[in-house]
Amino acid sequence: MESRLLQLGPFVPGSLIKRYTTCGRANCRCQQGEKHGPFWYLSRRFGGRTRLTYVREEKLEEVQLLVERYRDFQRTRQRLREIFRELERLFDGSERERAVKFDS
Ligand SMILES: [Zn+2]
Repeated sequence: MESRLLQLGPFVPGSLIKRYTTCGRANCRCQQGEKHGPFWYLSRRFGGRTRLTYVREEKLEEVQLLVERYRDFQRTRQRLREIFRELERLFDGSERERAVKFDS
């Protein structure tokens, strides 16, 4: 799992979101609920602020892969964190159990 974490390749920290929009034109079908889209955006956080970057159709697959890798990376990292926490707990318990009093 650790090697998997390191072999993932490049990623983009963020997620893809899909938007449908209405335009300003009168009598456009979007005014009747048939909105334009989907349009894809890369959502990223910069110092507490979320910024959306428009993703062109021909870039969509690439960005999809990049954000999936990021999700994968984060998931694996979180799983390892939990495993380490559990191991730490086990060692703590073991240390308490095995420590004997020694009087000369
Ligand atoms: Zn429209």
